Amino acid sequence: MLDWLLIGGGVHGTHLSLALTARLGWPRDRVRVLDPHPEPLALWSRQTANAGMAFMRSSLVHHLALDPYGLKRFARSPEAAGVARFAPPYRRPSYALFQAHAERVVCAHALDALRVQGRAVRLRRVASGWRVETQAGALNARRVVLAVGNTERPCWPGWALALHEAGGTVDHLFGAAFDRAAVPDGERTAVVGGGISAAQAATALARRGPTVLVSRHAARVHQLDADPGWLGPKRMAGFRLEPCPVAGRTAIDGARHRGSVPPDVLRRLQRAVRRDGLERVTAEVEAAEAGPLGTVRLALRRPDGAASASLVDRVVLATGFEASRPGGAWLDAAVEAEGLPLAPCGFPRLGRSLAWAPGLYAAGPLAELELGPTARNVAGARAAADRLPAA
Ligand SMILES: Cc1cc2nc3c(=O)[nH]c(=O)nc-3n(C[C@H](O)[C@H](O)[C@H](O)COP(=O)(O)OP(=O)(O)OC[C@H]3O[C@@H](n4cnc5c(N)ncnc54)[C@H](O)[C@@H]3O)c2cc1C
Repeated sequence: MLDWLLIGGGVHGTHLSLALTARLGWPRDRVRVLDPHPEPLALWSRQTANAGMAFMRSSLVHHLALDPYGLKRFARSPEAAGVARFAPPYRRPSYALFQAHAERVVCAHALDALRVQGRAVRLRRVASGWRVETQAGALNARRVVLAVGNTERPCWPGWALALHEAGGTVDHLFGAAFDRAAVPDGERTAVVGGGISAAQAATALARRGPTVLVSRHAARVHQLDADPGWLGPKRMAGFRLEPCPVAGRTAIDGARHRGSVPPDVLRRLQRAVRRDGLERVTAEVEAAEAGPLGTVRLALRRPDGAASASLVDRVVLATGFEASRPGGAWLDAAVEAEGLPLAPCGFPRLGRSLAWAPGLYAAGPLAELELGPTARNVAGARAAADRLPAA
């Protein structure tokens, strides 16, 4: 029986596996990370590459290593030559630097050797821990961490699903089937979304062909996706003392700048309008239909009520992820069978150590009622690691 099984080996699961083995003293051969992808961070790397980000939104202390200044030090090493760039404010590392550093951390600590390839499909309590079933057999562990995130569940609006079913060319920026680099040059593309990833993807696609960015609201400019006070005691002290999960959920929803764009990303977008002819339209997509020769016709409604249409070759959704509780049917069944406590919003009610039940822990969005609005970010992975017990 393992001491720890982490379900999900992305940003959170990978950082937590490092913290458990290299800081909290758990023996390496007693810790495993279950994930369907062969490599650590596979989903993160695909989604961020598709978004086309130049710099991280988060600061230089938010990365996968244990020492908060590990990335800063790495930036001075020969390995980081050519990618060691930072952007103000908060000295945000270039995306390439973050990725090179993550690769170094995984390699230096042989974190890939902790992985078991597979997908959790069932979770049940057993005598001395938990049993996780996968398509390739069962794993038993005294302690399990749910680090599945919500990143496998891109949000598809109803009109886009209908278009997809009708055979129209529509992809989600974060979908498993989409590769932005494979979009043929010269295609007319509509990017639908109003946040940072929509702005980044539209900016990148505009260099390759005629592009229209359709957003239902004007740009909401915020440097971070939540006030930086949420990263420390300034805002978290009060949040921690809040006993009511309904008030906690209200605080989280109010703190998140959903669909927002940092100033530098907005400047790049505006430059793409001037230099590359990127078109920006503020409108709601009301419907979409497959047109002649593989085209797609988008029916738009502007804020003043005026209707218009846009004819494109391809639609790329940058509409984020579903807001519902991560995990899906197998976790829903475990909640039911094991009587795991939920808040009225459907998310886990956890203890201070992030325990949902004896030996069952949660991280990422599943832990946000405990860790606050930044739980799903890199900072949230680091905060979760601080709560897990030492050997
Ligand atoms: C484009 C983009 C840019 C971002 N930029 C930043 C940023 O600059 N700074 C920041 O702090 N945050 C950022 N974030 C937010 C956040 O840090 C990332 O979404 C991050 O990947 C979340 O980590 P995660 O471990 O929850 O998800 P992931 O890294 O996607 O990992 C989850 C893993 O769990 C696996 N999994 C799911 N279900 C199962 C199952 N049943 N069994 C086994 N494994 C399973 C998945 O396949 C996946 O490998 C960004 C997010 C996106 C999408």
